[in-house]
Amino acid sequence: MKQDVQQLVERGEFLPLMEEFYTIQGEGYHKGTAAYFIRIGGCDVGCHWCDVKESWNADLHPATETLKIVDNAAKYSDTIVVTGGEPLTWDMTLLTSQLKAKGLNVHIETSGAYKLTGIWDWICLSPKKMKAPTEEIYSKADELKIIVYNRDDFKFAEEQAIKVNDKCILYLQPEWSKRDKMIPEIVDYVMKNPKWKVSLQTHKYLNIP
Ligand code: SF4
Repeated sequence: MKQDVQQLVERGEFLPLMEEFYTIQGEGYHKGTAAYFIRIGGCDVGCHWCDVKESWNADLHPATETLKIVDNAAKYSDTIVVTGGEPLTWDMTLLTSQLKAKGLNVHIETSGAYKLTGIWDWICLSPKKMKAPTEEIYSKADELKIIVYNRDDFKFAEEQAIKVNDKCILYLQPEWSKRDKMIPEIVDYVMKNPKWKVSLQTHKYLNIP
């Protein structure tokens, strides 16, 4: 990325836009809801099972004027999901304030590994063992979504659940490639520990993005 563009990206005036698409939110509390997804490039959390590794290198995704992203998104839906990559790699203040100015509901999917910026109607916190969330985001998360790759993740889930606020909804979601193995374990765990709910990547079952 050229230096002048880099500065605009660091201020959130441009963002490395990987893709944007209108679809159905498949996961978590808002599953089944039509939403416009804005996928921002850049992530160095390094989950080995990540299903969007193409997002990691921000330089591969065109720096796009934030106001153009907003104008385009507003044409499609009143619910906008900002995802990545890790969107909090960048300053989300301008993006979210402009989406809010258009009266849209603005959601984020984040690992919480970086400083929370932006104004959000819904924060889905999906913490990762490799890079712990900032303390600040636990008090603000609306849902906690733990990806279950193996049994150790139940322990991690409980460690994370202690940290979130009382209103935060707790989800266990099987990592896609391990779903056949882990779904029975998750079902059993949730029946024994009903503060948790099951989340599935229903968009993948529906064959939509
Ligand atoms: S935080 Fe998300 S985008 Fe980043 S490596 Fe992990 S799963 Fe992939």
